[in-house]
Amino acid sequence: MTIRTRFAPSPTGLLHVGNARAALFNFLFARHHGGEFLLRIEDTDKERSTQKAVDVIFDGLAWMGIDADAEPVFQSARQDRHTEVALELLEKGQAYKCFCTPEELTAMREKAMAEKRPPRYDGTWRDRDPSEAPAGAPYVVRLKAPREGETVIRDLVQGEVRVGNSEMDDLILLRSDGTPTYLHAVVVDDHDMEITHVMRGDDHLTNTFRQAMIYRAMGWDLPHFAHLPLIHGPDGAKLSKRHGAQSVVDFREEGYLPEALCNYLLRLGWGHGDAEVLSREEQIKLFDLDGVGRSPSRMDYVKLAHLNGIWMRVADDTRLTNDVMERLQGREGVVTDDKTRARILAMMPGLKERAKTLVELTDNAAFAGFTLPLTFTPKAEKLLGEDGRKVLEGVGKELAALPDFTPETIDATLRAYAEKNEIKLGSVAQPLRAAMTGSTTSPGIDLTLSALGQDEVLARIAAVLASGSADG
Ligand code: GLU
Repeated sequence: MTIRTRFAPSPTGLLHVGNARAALFNFLFARHHGGEFLLRIEDTDKERSTQKAVDVIFDGLAWMGIDADAEPVFQSARQDRHTEVALELLEKGQAYKCFCTPEELTAMREKAMAEKRPPRYDGTWRDRDPSEAPAGAPYVVRLKAPREGETVIRDLVQGEVRVGNSEMDDLILLRSDGTPTYLHAVVVDDHDMEITHVMRGDDHLTNTFRQAMIYRAMGWDLPHFAHLPLIHGPDGAKLSKRHGAQSVVDFREEGYLPEALCNYLLRLGWGHGDAEVLSREEQIKLFDLDGVGRSPSRMDYVKLAHLNGIWMRVADDTRLTNDVMERLQGREGVVTDDKTRARILAMMPGLKERAKTLVELTDNAAFAGFTLPLTFTPKAEKLLGEDGRKVLEGVGKELAALPDFTPETIDATLRAYAEKNEIKLGSVAQPLRAAMTGSTTSPGIDLTLSALGQDEVLARIAAVLASGSADG
């Protein structure tokens, strides 16, 4: 048997982390078992399902490196098939037409509530002859659900879960306008796509009991189910905006690498010994459902940022530079030309050691493209007082005389200057750093100066010296 999983998002306009994790688990499980991973867009809600909302899903999955093994299936295109199955159930006597009017249904609900019973459909038309209905009256098609016994699901994460059939009513398969319901469509699609394992959020568990009844009525084998615990906020409450990023687009904008987000989401609900940082190959090799926990996970943004820092340090310098350049586009006071790009690329080994997100990396790299004169942070200004300016003037002359402007020659020059003037190396590096960046942080000063290039370094020193006393 080929293992076949699917990710079946409804295009609502965002790809929530909970769904993104379900996609990842389905993908890894299929890959681990040499099976197939499919994508189905559940776009039957025509109002919400815009092309833009569908693209958000495609883009998010592509960014996370989760690719399907076949063209995506659009649920809305399969409506005829959903109807066909409902009519087959009708023919087999496993479903029936219900002619209850909205008023009758309301009365039924109110009666049940008054009698302190759960408001379920009472089966009025279950055994009635449709000929008793007024001619041409609208109807829905309902499943003739079993009344006795229990529905039991052997869930691969939750264990055995069961519900008494008397607690469920006859669910609607086709609405009065002839459109299939969501619960019904999912069953038909999963069956036709030959899905062997349905993995989704545990908020779908109650749907699963009802869907199991449709499978049984059709005489179809049930897939295996794995209901994944939800992701909560750090405080244990439902994850919401106030906690921080919650959709894949948010995380991307906030400067997380897809490797880090996937690694984090995997580790959030699944464990394999102490392994923290896992490449995609390792994830595929190790992932299986027995490592998935049952209790809800809490989103830990601090841990995610930590993992992101780790993934940034091993990320390719050109890739990071491209991202930073894109983020710098349009930023005021920053030139984003090839010169700036070359400077950032040269400094990237140092820059990426010091940032946890691409946003931070971009902020730290921006000085490479600053136009002169720079603006200074208060701390930087302090470093450019009388002493600092004296250092800049003196060391500037030595730097101007260098025939080769490399980290090595620069380092030697700064050290020699410090020694000759009997000051600490830091007293030379700090004002230089302030003059180059406007702030007090940068990669190593030798790398920073060589990346900016001799002309730019001298221009930035000159701009400080020309501006009168920087500390006013
Ligand atoms: N379309 C459903 C959702 O986005 C998922 C249904 C399923 O996985 O069965 O929540």
